[in-house]
Amino acid sequence: KAGFVALVGRPNVGKSTLLNYLIGQKISITSRRPQTTRHRIRGIKTTPEGQIVFVDTPGMHVSQKRAMNRYLNRAAASALVDVDVIVWLIDRPAWLPEDEWIFERIKSAGVPVILAINKVDRLEEKSVLLPFLEQAAARYAFADLVPVSALKGVNLDVLEKKILELL
Ligand code: GDP
Ligand code: MG
Repeated sequence: KAGFVALVGRPNVGKSTLLNYLIGQKISITSRRPQTTRHRIRGIKTTPEGQIVFVDTPGMHVSQKRAMNRYLNRAAASALVDVDVIVWLIDRPAWLPEDEWIFERIKSAGVPVILAINKVDRLEEKSVLLPFLEQAAARYAFADLVPVSALKGVNLDVLEKKILELL
């Protein structure tokens, strides 16, 4: 099993932290999968079950205002189309207006999307989690919803297992 996984989300949601935790020092292992020109490999996680190639998706990092540009919109949408799985990271159980732009791109990709709710270690009121998960599930048919802490490594084994299942 091997596949490309796009890690998307607003700045500061914890994408780099998540990658660092999952990949650690094993960043130099090369994939046997051919790389598409659309993607820049950010890290490869090799497990006995398979290989997860985390890629950057061009156009997904620009600000919402600049993203109104049609070219960038197309670039961001098409880059997501040829990955196998999308992991969408948000900062705690809060679906902000700033998240909508990414959500729109994700919906049109036609690829399984895992919603990872990061920074749960900073949640003071854990009871907000369940209603949030229910609301998010009602808004979109996510492949899964996984509360995680990229910083503390909470639930990252579950996230990794889910990604591998979808490859
Ligand atoms: P990126 O812009 O999406 O790549 O976000 P970063 O990985 O750079 O993280 C932004 C900030 O959030 C950093 O200060 C991280 O230490 C912090 N951060 C990331 N994940 C977590 C988490 O699970 N818990 C907490 N408390 N902080 C986190
Ligand atoms: Mg980063």
